[in-house]
Amino acid sequence: MSSRYRISVDNDRCRRYGICAAEAAQLFRLTPSGNLRYIRAVSPDALAAAKAAVRSCPTLAIELEER
Ligand code: SF4
Repeated sequence: MSSRYRISVDNDRCRRYGICAAEAAQLFRLTPSGNLRYIRAVSPDALAAAKAAVRSCPTLAIELEER
């Protein structure tokens, strides 16, 4: 089943702090080389964590939109 919520990260704003990965490890991950990887489709059980990641990002780089 596809999710109604989608994440996108503005790469120009993202400073790779990894706070999002701490808030929502099921969605965000910093690679050993320092890149941010994330899952775009947010499953319903990950929605609260996704919202926490949006709130915690110091550069407001994460967008969560309902499709
Ligand atoms: S918390 Fe924000 S700035 Fe930090 S890695 Fe995540 S998206 Fe990038």
